[in-house]
Amino acid sequence: MATLVSFHAHPDDESIGTGGVLRKASEEGHRVVLVVATSGEHGELVEGFTLAEGESLSTRRVRETHEAAEILGVHRVVFLGYRDSGMMGSPANDNPASFWRADVEEAAVVLAGILTDERADVLTVYDDNGGYGHPDHIQVHRVGMRAAEIAGTKKVYQQTMNRDRMRRGRKAFAARAREAGIEIPGGAENDHGAFGKPEAEITAAVDVRPYLAYKRRAMRAHASQIGEGSVFLAMPEEGFRFGFGTEWFIREGQGPGITETDLFEGLG
Ligand SMILES: [Zn+2]
Repeated sequence: MATLVSFHAHPDDESIGTGGVLRKASEEGHRVVLVVATSGEHGELVEGFTLAEGESLSTRRVRETHEAAEILGVHRVVFLGYRDSGMMGSPANDNPASFWRADVEEAAVVLAGILTDERADVLTVYDDNGGYGHPDHIQVHRVGMRAAEIAGTKKVYQQTMNRDRMRRGRKAFAARAREAGIEIPGGAENDHGAFGKPEAEITAAVDVRPYLAYKRRAMRAHASQIGEGSVFLAMPEEGFRFGFGTEWFIREGQGPGITETDLFEGLG
């Protein structure tokens, strides 16, 4: 059996981006370790959600992460303790304690220590744009890639979104809506140029449909951030399967095209 370390920026990213592969790995008997850089203190509370008395958003989100981790079968959760850097361009970017301002080499040494202790075979990080340009997500890429180099981790997967498939899905949805005479506010054919990566750059696609109920439950555990009315929870089953039933990754040296459908392929 192997060990997977999944590196994330904020609480809830693990469930949204990799909830399926975490649960799958755990069910298949692998050790699963979740490392989260920040406790997401700049997250926006779901409307109507109130923190308990004396509870900070950070405390709340750490607790939610532990709940989600349990649902996903994660064996160990580690928080690196950096401050959430907020969206790109926000003043929080300049906080010296923010993850965005962290020294990449220093942070990588810390993560490499975990990879070495755990004898990690597989590491997941994010693509070089952090999926959508959030500074903490970009930093997960930089720190994660360097940590794998230091620790000599064999397989590194950069989680991403399949931009082209998303675009096709929106087009099909728009066509169906038009047929039904429904006007979609803002237009359904908005460009997803800044999201994820073109399909041609993606090298691994993991079918996580058998684990979707866990993935959705894990999202629900992040109740301060993901409301029942959110696209994640309110979306009909069919849409959820389309949007979240496959998890996409890029691994250097693979491709062109999808050459892997499991993160543990080739490991003893
Ligand atoms: Zn995030």
